[in-house]
Amino acid sequence: MAEQVIIIGSGPAGWSAAIYASRAELKPLQFEGAITEENRLAGTLPLGQLALTTEVENFAGFPAGDLKPFIETAIDPKRLPYMNIHEGKHAVTGPELMELMRQQAINFGTRVVTDDVVEVDLSKRPFVVKTLEGKTHEAHAIIVATGAKANYLGLPSEDAYKNRGVSACAVCDGALPRFRNKPLVVVGGGDSAVEEATYLTKYASTVHLVHRRDKLRASMIMQERALNNPKIKMEWNSTLDEVTGNDKDGVCGVNLGSSTGGAQRELPVSGVFLAIGHTPNTAFLKGQLALNESGYIQWTQPFRTATSVEGVFAAGDVADDYYKQAITSAGTGCMAALDAERWLAAKGIH
Ligand code: NAP
Repeated sequence: MAEQVIIIGSGPAGWSAAIYASRAELKPLQFEGAITEENRLAGTLPLGQLALTTEVENFAGFPAGDLKPFIETAIDPKRLPYMNIHEGKHAVTGPELMELMRQQAINFGTRVVTDDVVEVDLSKRPFVVKTLEGKTHEAHAIIVATGAKANYLGLPSEDAYKNRGVSACAVCDGALPRFRNKPLVVVGGGDSAVEEATYLTKYASTVHLVHRRDKLRASMIMQERALNNPKIKMEWNSTLDEVTGNDKDGVCGVNLGSSTGGAQRELPVSGVFLAIGHTPNTAFLKGQLALNESGYIQWTQPFRTATSVEGVFAAGDVADDYYKQAITSAGTGCMAALDAERWLAAKGIH
């Protein structure tokens, strides 16, 4: 029998949609993603990009406090051993926030499947959804909340040293022995780059923040933190041209180019972290929904989560190349569930 609604994705948009859809008794089936090496490398494991971050200081409702006792009473005890709950007073961390949202969705009856959706057929009704494990499901409505993943520059040398000193996630990899007390490079000039650079100063001897312009794009408060951090050295007007290294040690250095016509320089570093923006996870849609020129799903009406296919709704970063915040994703997840509920009711689908 076809599901009323399938939700694809497990970041704040997916879980918020699931909380609303399950409270509306739509009995949502949610695909949170598969735990595979490919997803680990791409940064698309379950719980979305927030699973790769540290403290989330700007999610309304979570001022810093001793959250451990609360989390221990809220989360299924079976998941607690795998959670690294922070001790003492702290702002909620990304992984903690996602586990709390996941639990909240389950509490209201969401059924969670730890598998990837690899294909959808939106030309048929009910829609057809195929998973990595080879299973097929049908649904009258779909909410796509698959988010976005970190970009790489596409240099052959960057590819050659992935997992051997090249990473797009400081929080996942920063504490590895290969990076401790060593000089590192972070590429980018936005909030992510500044956040990653600041985080890496916990482990690195120096963090070179390589940015192609002479001005950061990051928010003022984040910029100030980076510019006042004695361990961060700004490499303005610089581009990462090549990662150098060897089979035994992995990354040993970088060649930096100049975006203002200066000479190329070498920097001896043990790690390179990319923080140059994101690409939406829409490949599995294979052109079945209207996307914008950057590949993000397009909403077809302002302030509605409807897409180019009736009955398919989109929420979170997969449809947002502008705000890209946890709280805006959660908000649009709620909107998508309400839109799906109203659409199903109007069609008389129960
Ligand atoms: P972003 O704001 O789009 O910044 C991407 C950075 O990478 C820019 O500085 C850009 O340079 C640079 N870049 C892009 N392509 C490049 C290339 N091919 N070569 C070299 N540099 C390149 O992305 P983000 O930093 O990931 O942030 C995304 C969103 O998440 C933003 O809305 C941000 O505010 C939010 N965010 C918030 C927090 C927080 O509040 N704690 C943390 C992380 C992210 P240009 O500046 O020259 O374009």
